[in-house]
Amino acid sequence: MDGKALAAKVRERVAQEARALGRLGLATILVGDDPASEVYIRHKHAAAEEVGIEAVDIRLPADSTTVDVLERVRRLNEDDAVDGILVQTPLPDQLDEALVQAAVEPAKDVDGLHPLNVGLLHLGRPALVPATPLGVMALLAEYGVGIEGARAVVIGRSQIVGRPLAQLLTHANATVTVCHSRTVELARNTLDADVLVAAVGLPGMVTADLVKQGAAVVDVGITRTDAGLVGDVDPTAAEVAAFLTPVPGGVGPMTIACLLENTVLAARNRRGELAVSGN
Ligand code: NAD
Repeated sequence: MDGKALAAKVRERVAQEARALGRLGLATILVGDDPASEVYIRHKHAAAEEVGIEAVDIRLPADSTTVDVLERVRRLNEDDAVDGILVQTPLPDQLDEALVQAAVEPAKDVDGLHPLNVGLLHLGRPALVPATPLGVMALLAEYGVGIEGARAVVIGRSQIVGRPLAQLLTHANATVTVCHSRTVELARNTLDADVLVAAVGLPGMVTADLVKQGAAVVDVGITRTDAGLVGDVDPTAAEVAAFLTPVPGGVGPMTIACLLENTVLAARNRRGELAVSGN
């Protein structure tokens, strides 16, 4: 499943919508100088500018306090030129991540991490939903992978990937199992999966013997190694799976494209247009 190709299509659609809406703004807050976060922020900004969304790059020192970050978020909440706000994680240890996420105006919460958006997703109501799970759903739809009635297994239960993806799959009428670090006998679950998603961060952990013949396998994992970016799915899984996303070029580009789509969605909602999210 080619995420690069689908992401290009999504970005084209976003660019058209952005042109129709006029000025759009996406603000990111980066606290400290984590090199991986810097790269992600750079990619997000470049992608935003390319589709005509103005990127606002807020940098705060590594020793910022929670109050410092909350104050910056408050100013962005009040800034009418800003449609979407994203606080890059991980935040330095001294910061209260939950407080910061809850401070973002829900209507501008393009990462879908505000408790209101998390709750709306849980209820199956229109919400801003994290971009990575949206990207996974879009890839499965693009390749005609049947979700209704399918057994889906998500490995990983993070707030940004595993949990919201399990919700989206449930809303799409899959029978969903969430596996995690304390799951005993992972294979007992994964071998039943028509759709298997790995979002762990352990290179090659999904080997062929964990995959059902003919399954659709989505590799969300990204680990930086000397040999480049590596996913959670071992290359041997390709022999068993009917569909597989590559790393890089799978979920990664879709995450960025769906973030831009969320920014358009937030802008349309803020302008009073009726818009619904992917859930
Ligand atoms: P996280 O560290 O917050 O969560 C990892 C999850 O894996 C946890 O829920 C944990 O319970 C589970 N886990 C750990 N060890 C396990 C094991 N042995 N067996 C089963 N489950 C296990 O990570 P995250 O933020 O969800 O990210 C997961 C991976 O996805 C990382 O590699 C990250 O870089 C990548 N990621 C990629 C994108 C993208 O756009 N492609 C976006 C977000 C995250």
